[in-house]
Amino acid sequence: MKQVIVATKNAGKAKEFEHIFNQYNVVVKSLLDFEGIEEIVEDGQTFEENALIKAKTVCMALNMDALADDSGLCVLSLNGEPGVMSARYASIDDNNASDKANRDLLLKNMEGITDRRAYFACAIALTMPDGTSYETEGKFWGEIGFKEIGENGFGYDNLFFVPEYNMTSAQMSPEQKNSMSHRGKALRELTKLL
Ligand code: IMP
Repeated sequence: MKQVIVATKNAGKAKEFEHIFNQYNVVVKSLLDFEGIEEIVEDGQTFEENALIKAKTVCMALNMDALADDSGLCVLSLNGEPGVMSARYASIDDNNASDKANRDLLLKNMEGITDRRAYFACAIALTMPDGTSYETEGKFWGEIGFKEIGENGFGYDNLFFVPEYNMTSAQMSPEQKNSMSHRGKALRELTKLL
C-alpha cells in the first residue's frame, strides 16, 4: 500500500487529506507522526512557492512522497492582500495572529471601499523522492462582507460572502463548502493525477 506524508502539524488538515486519499488505498501520515522536522520557513512570494517549499523539505528529510498545501485570502481592491500573509496579517512579531485579529484588521482596511471582490486560493504540491513534483490550485470567489456572519469554518469564513448562495462560507456545512472551496478544487485536481 502506498504511503504519503502531509507536511502539516494540523490534525484537522491531515484528516481532510486522509479522507480523500484513503479512497485510493493511500495511507496518509502527517508531521505529527514524525519527530525532529524543524519548523519550515514559508518565505515564498506565492501560494505555489510555499506549498512546494514545504513538500520538498519534508520529502527530502524523510525520503517519502510528500504533500503540502498553502492557502489564503486575496482581496482585489487591496492588491491581493492579505495573500500569503493571511495567517499573519495582524501579527506584530511574524508569528500567526488570531483569526479574530486578522478579520478585524481586514474590516478596518476595507472601510470606505466599495469593490469587495475577493477569492480564497489554495495550492497543493506533491513531491516524490526522485525529484518529480506536481502542483494543483483552486480558487473560491466571493465578496468581503461588512460584519461577521455564521458560525462554521475558520479564518476569514464569516466575512466571506458568496453571492450565488446568499450566505457566507461560515454559514455553509463542511460538505457544501468543500464542494466549491479552493481547497476542495485543488484536492480534486490532485486526485485526477493519482
Ligand atoms: P494555511 O494554508 O493553513 O497557512 O492558511 C492560511 C490562512 O488563510 C488561514 O490561517 C486563514 O486565515 C486563511 N484561510 C485559508 N483557507 C481558508 C478558508 O477556507 N476559510 C477561511 N480562511 C482561510
